Amino acid sequence: MSALVSELRAILGRRNVLSAPSELAVYDCDALTVERRRPDVVVLPDSTQQVVDVVRTCRRYDAPIIARGAGTSLAGGCLPTPGSVVLSLTRMNRIVDIDLRNRMAVVEAGVANLRLAQALVGTGFHFAPDPSSQGASTIGGNAATNAGGPHTLKDGVTVNHVLGLECVLADGSVLQLGPVVRPDQLDLVGLLIGSEGTLAIVTKLWVRLTPDPQNYRALRATFATVEDAGNAVSHIIAAGIIPAAMELMDQGVLSAVEAAYHFGFPPEAGAVLVVEVDGPEVGLDRQQQQITELCQRFGASEVLQAASAHERELLWKCRKMAVGATGRLSPSYTIQDGVVPRTRLPEIIRRTAEISQKHQIRIVNVAHAGDGNIHPILLFDERDREQVDRALAAGREILEACIALGGSITAEHGVGVEKLGLMDRLFAPADLDAMRQVREAFDPAGILNPGKLIPAKTES
Ligand SMILES: Cc1cc2nc3c(=O)[nH]c(=O)nc-3n(C[C@H](O)[C@H](O)[C@H](O)COP(=O)(O)OP(=O)(O)OC[C@H]3O[C@@H](n4cnc5c(N)ncnc54)[C@H](O)[C@@H]3O)c2cc1C
Repeated sequence: MSALVSELRAILGRRNVLSAPSELAVYDCDALTVERRRPDVVVLPDSTQQVVDVVRTCRRYDAPIIARGAGTSLAGGCLPTPGSVVLSLTRMNRIVDIDLRNRMAVVEAGVANLRLAQALVGTGFHFAPDPSSQGASTIGGNAATNAGGPHTLKDGVTVNHVLGLECVLADGSVLQLGPVVRPDQLDLVGLLIGSEGTLAIVTKLWVRLTPDPQNYRALRATFATVEDAGNAVSHIIAAGIIPAAMELMDQGVLSAVEAAYHFGFPPEAGAVLVVEVDGPEVGLDRQQQQITELCQRFGASEVLQAASAHERELLWKCRKMAVGATGRLSPSYTIQDGVVPRTRLPEIIRRTAEISQKHQIRIVNVAHAGDGNIHPILLFDERDREQVDRALAAGREILEACIALGGSITAEHGVGVEKLGLMDRLFAPADLDAMRQVREAFDPAGILNPGKLIPAKTES
């Protein structure tokens, strides 16, 4: 490794190649995956050419390369593998162009999602994907995981908002796809989005800008049970309304948020829905009224309509702070990510409660309910190995229940290492073989993020 480190230092300069244990410690984990792995070296290139040079050098040494954005992954996608070089994109953080006439922005991969959002304030446009991690997560990371977020119910996930990509392939060549794509062209951008750093390293993106809605209406509905809230969700969609966002928090999460921020949730609340509609001003009041009535029909004891921009902001603040606030409930927690058809939401939450009982692991829930995306948060103490094992077993059983209900093992956080073992439950051997062949075509030597996303073939 020391010869490799010397060569990398010659390319990037000493301060952009980290190899001291204290510097590497920061890169041994993602946001919440239980597993930790210390990398051997971390590089911080600041241009596409430097990425090319690093890739060519690593290839000569057969050193695997793990692309890393902000490290907010929740599935272990950016965890190092033995002997690997972690390639952090965070120094490639320039907003290259905001081109309003073409409704497009050009950003380097390490630009944090919120920075682009802030740069667009006042332009009349925004970048629609808004993962709850947007304060930190990078647009390159969002593309690599095909991130969703509260507001992707109506506008779609990251793949629907990327027009073009510049990326470095495993042999060090640079590929530019888009931003102008003919409809009859092979959709390579679509193939690369969500590939979790296994096909290419994304260095630059051309992203679609969406016009800001003329106005919003946001409301908070309180229910006695998650089941009632879940029923309201499917009936709102069945009524032909597609809210901009529809988020669910259960009693456990609400108690943590209330203790931390005092938003004033009724103490008897078993679940809360935060629903937002947006669009042309005409019709918004009617939609809000319809949603209010549907929530009441399905048992909402209270529906509060945000009366001002400040009240709307508070509603979103309580949702965006929810995951962090659960840190008050236990020494450690991990967040699972699955999806079910939204009509099965009450069932999966019920199953989750049974799994919690069975494994004696407390579980609280947030969900992008409109999409059927669930994020059960499993609370435990990582100093107790036996508790860790029970939490992992419970997480796995929840994902198996998602499959049984016609859903999938990842709603938006990706597969990483965490869900690798469940891929063959979801996909047939032929599907997995096709994925392996695509990967091999892009990266025959297998140096880009090995051991992630697609399980290795086992001899039968
Ligand atoms: C509190 C919290 C809330 C979250 N909320 C959401 C949410 O609402 N929706 C959602 O979808 N996710 C959410 N996440 C998960 C996470 O933030 C997303 O997956 C995000 O897109 C990861 O971006 P990142 O820059 O942190 O990437 P990283 O965590 O650094 O990497 C994630 C994966 O992408 C690959 N990668 C990163 N950058 C590149 C690149 N430039 N080229 C190639 N591969 C790359 C890595 O190898 C890895 O496989 C949340 C996480 C947290 C901690």
